[in-house]
Amino acid sequence: MIVDLHFHSQASDGLLPPDEVARRAVARGVGMLALTDHDETSGLAAARAAVESVAESVAEAARFIDGVEISTEWGGVQVHVVGLDFDTRDAALNAGLASIRAGRVERAQRMSAELESHGISGGFAGAMRYARNPNLIGRSHFARYLVEIGLRPDLRGVFDSFLVPGKPGYVDHRWATLAEAVGWILGAGGVAVLAHPGRYRFSRQELRNLLDEFKGLGGQAIEVVSGSHSPEHFIEFSRLAREYGFLASCGSDFHGPEESYVDIGGNAPLPGDVTPVWTAFRSKTP
Ligand code: AMP
Ligand code: MN
Ligand code: MN
Ligand code: MN
Repeated sequence: MIVDLHFHSQASDGLLPPDEVARRAVARGVGMLALTDHDETSGLAAARAAVESVAESVAEAARFIDGVEISTEWGGVQVHVVGLDFDTRDAALNAGLASIRAGRVERAQRMSAELESHGISGGFAGAMRYARNPNLIGRSHFARYLVEIGLRPDLRGVFDSFLVPGKPGYVDHRWATLAEAVGWILGAGGVAVLAHPGRYRFSRQELRNLLDEFKGLGGQAIEVVSGSHSPEHFIEFSRLAREYGFLASCGSDFHGPEESYVDIGGNAPLPGDVTPVWTAFRSKTP
């Protein structure tokens, strides 16, 4: 079965509406899927309804899992924590996510001023045009604007030279703490998953410190397979999952058809030597 437990919709920085991205997953043969928008759960109901309405017309029903990707700051770096299979009505989780969203517009204004100081104007308005959910304005929307004005041909090129620490357009920001993010997810009955651990530029020791702290807080899983991991990462993080006793998750991190190298459901399957994260889901397992 194809499993994709990490992708985005227009509710954050994805290019497709929640129902469309969910239908795309089912059409591509995904049997279990979780929409994981940044700091936002407003797309989940439409995505779930789309999956359930498709399921009525096909023999084998796909299983929809509620998800979210929470922005945290750890060791001075932006670290993402995916929450899966939680109660979407949980008050503390919803208040926490709202508090992160509240800082994004002000951050975007600071990013825009930072770009302006490098001679790049119109950033805020330009990015806002790409933000279908204005509360979720972020670096992807700025990156699309920088492509639009011809600074780089694609997002990858933009993120090589802009919007990252030390480059034009980057500003520090106060996100949730790792403890808050894990606490909100566990408090809502969900599973906390460290997202794309291979993407952070940590030393081996820093990575181990992060895994130790995440484990100590009650984090249960790490992404072994991610659209931003190499096959070497699959092996490295399988080994670390076994060593630490973490469950293993997999997802494409799909944002949009023209933008993402890995399409929805196009992620590799989990290696056989790890315990899949879905064994911890509350509802039936496949
Ligand atoms: P933000 O939450 O506003 O800091 O934006 C983070 C988002 O920017 C990520 O979720 C990605 O969608 C995008 N992003 C960050 N770094 C890169 C990169 N190197 N290549 C492509 N997209 C990136
Ligand atoms: Mn994103
Ligand atoms: Mn992420
Ligand atoms: Mn993501």
